[in-house]
Amino acid sequence: MTTIVPRNPDADLISTVPEKPRRRSRWISVPGIAALIGIAVLVTIAIIGPDTWMTAATERNIAERWSGASAQHVFGTDDIGRDIFARVMVAARLSLLLTAGATAMLIGGGLIIGLTAAILPKHARRALIWVMDMLLAFPWLLLVLFFTVIWDASATGAMLAIGLAGIPSITRLVYNMASSVADQDYVRAARVVGVGPLGIMFKHVLPNIANPLLVQSAASASVTLLAFAGLSFLGLGVQAPEYDWGRLLNEGLGHLYTNPMAAIGPGIAIVFSGLVFTMIAETIAEQPGQGLRAVARASRLAALTRVGSRSTAAAPASTNDSDTALAEVQNLHISYPDGDGGIVERVRGVSLRVRSGEVVGIVGESGSGKSLTAMALAGLLEAPAIVEAEVRRFDDIDLAAKLTSADRKRLGVELGVIFQDPLTSLNPALTIGRQLTEVPQQHLGMSRAQARARAVEGLDAVGIPDPSARLGDYPHQFSGGMRQRAMIGIALTGHPRLIIADEPTTALDVTVQRQVLGVLRRAQHATGAGIVFISHDIALVSGFCDRVVVMKDGEIVEELDAARIKEQATHPYTRALIACLPDMSSDRTRPLPVIGDLSHSELEEVSA
Ligand code: ADP
Ligand code: MG
Repeated sequence: MTTIVPRNPDADLISTVPEKPRRRSRWISVPGIAALIGIAVLVTIAIIGPDTWMTAATERNIAERWSGASAQHVFGTDDIGRDIFARVMVAARLSLLLTAGATAMLIGGGLIIGLTAAILPKHARRALIWVMDMLLAFPWLLLVLFFTVIWDASATGAMLAIGLAGIPSITRLVYNMASSVADQDYVRAARVVGVGPLGIMFKHVLPNIANPLLVQSAASASVTLLAFAGLSFLGLGVQAPEYDWGRLLNEGLGHLYTNPMAAIGPGIAIVFSGLVFTMIAETIAEQPGQGLRAVARASRLAALTRVGSRSTAAAPASTNDSDTALAEVQNLHISYPDGDGGIVERVRGVSLRVRSGEVVGIVGESGSGKSLTAMALAGLLEAPAIVEAEVRRFDDIDLAAKLTSADRKRLGVELGVIFQDPLTSLNPALTIGRQLTEVPQQHLGMSRAQARARAVEGLDAVGIPDPSARLGDYPHQFSGGMRQRAMIGIALTGHPRLIIADEPTTALDVTVQRQVLGVLRRAQHATGAGIVFISHDIALVSGFCDRVVVMKDGEIVEELDAARIKEQATHPYTRALIACLPDMSSDRTRPLPVIGDLSHSELEEVSA
């Protein structure tokens, strides 16, 4: 019997501990088991095959040439009476080695070229990808034949040919996947706190593309195997006296009518191996999009080569008395190149100061430059943005100057950025725990155990129940509200002095919005950090902030005391925003006004 406990909207704030479901390994699935057994069979045959069956495979017996399948010769015998079954077993090693070699070549080559392309400067990248696209458009088989002719018809020649011909398509795949990962918020944030291109590759890109790439490898292996069989069948691959399954198939085919098993035998071997590779691909594809501990471990190694040395803790926060601002921009202009060689100015002369412990709200319609302003304040804008300002600093760090690695390290610790979309701001390939221990381990020089304790504190502070058990979860196992809390938790694992929250609740429903705001509020009390809170919801902002700036078309049109927005607001745009909010005196029989209705005539009046 189950009891259903009614859900209380604030329930997640209380640390009730729901039983954490144990994750079961997906390897224990039918294709998983089949793939494991299949690969074990193939490897065993490849290892013991030549030793076990060599005599039978080479022993001539002219009297019994081309005999059909029998108990003694399961697949019959060939033109000089050798046992075909034994030959198929012996050929397994060569066939599989060639397949593995060519697959490794095409995956390795594609990975290296694709990742290189992803970090090259624009023109070099385009040139490289253009060449790869040309090769990709070239018929694959022709490419293989072309390379085979270059290296003559030999086993190694065929391996090189198949390996090289496969590189362009893998390059394309890797490049596309890498570029899409490189655009995500978490990668941008990592870049800004000083993670180099290699760190980005190992920590963010590889874990995210590892899964599809492994699926592709297994699928390529099966195509490669067939390609070898095809080349050998055409007489372009393995040459006598050596033989692989393709050659055996070729020899057997001539006698299809007298002894069908002579051709079907090697055919079965090819089909079986192809199936095993496909099942491996299937099994990997079923893994929840990440896993791959090996890659994660590699990335951990790479992470160690990151910013600065791990043992030195962040520089102590410099003194900051109450009237000097913690962060400020003066006369900030941000432009972007438009398509036709000109530039468009998106932020026009914004000045903003945030003091320690102060919560500053930025409201304004979509596209008014709120995010750009906040990102400039956090030093998160990079090319092609053109950023100009008289002053742009965080504490004593001049964000306009070239940042030293010590500066970046301090930014990593003292600045917390919470993005609007919790899905793109957490790395889907790393566990929540890995992402929460990053700042303490890399920037605060904590040991793994200390960092873990800090991560647990971080999750606990944002009201995630049973935090230590949830550290092993991946972002997709968290709900939207929990992800957003985890983001706040990450900001809390450093020593945040400024938290920039860019529409942190827009993607969430109203009750969860309230909880997340509560969490943010408490975090602010606990750390004394300043907060820049961006929203297009003036009601939300006025309830949460001390001070509100209103932006429109890249300019600050008004600065207000949050408690007295209604009385102070004079700008028609702000008044229009306020008029859209229902209150106790709203006439419920009339539709609420919308901004378009109100602002135009009034706007002109004021600006005149
Ligand atoms: P919001 O106030 O909704 O946060 P943003 O600050 O994100 O608005 O954007 C302000 C303007 O700048 C928008 O018109 C947007 O199209 C433009 N913009 C933002 N990011 C970029 C970019 N990377 N490239 C070109 N234009 C951009
Ligand atoms: Mg925005």
